[in-house]
Amino acid sequence: MIQPKYEIGQRMYHIIEERYDWQEKECYICEGTTMADIKGEKFSCPKCNGYGVLNICKKRYVIKGEVINGYDVRKINDDIEIVYHIGHYGIEEKRINSSGGYFFTSKGRAKTALEKLEFHAAIDTSSSQNY
Ligand SMILES: [Zn+2]
Repeated sequence: MIQPKYEIGQRMYHIIEERYDWQEKECYICEGTTMADIKGEKFSCPKCNGYGVLNICKKRYVIKGEVINGYDVRKINDDIEIVYHIGHYGIEEKRINSSGGYFFTSKGRAKTALEKLEFHAAIDTSSSQNY
């Protein structure tokens, strides 16, 4: 009989990447012309995909709570593993509270992991992408 460590209905915390402060800026490669000049030939700008603008946003990490809504018991060779359904994620028991991230049993533990993430991410806080 396998006894799961965590209960259905128990709240878990994880870190998600949130994009915010969206701004449309003129593409710095084609300067809004939608075309890029490469060795004297004109091409649709590869940076903005020919839109002439870039959608710039900032990224931040936020802690989000999710509830365990079930679990599976998996048998792999001689190993038995419990996989929890947390929100729409499937997380192995060993990944909960692990230093690699995933899910944490308390907001405090998630916050500690978040502080490490923010420290490493401090160099890269913005990105540009077109949708
Ligand atoms: Zn461009």
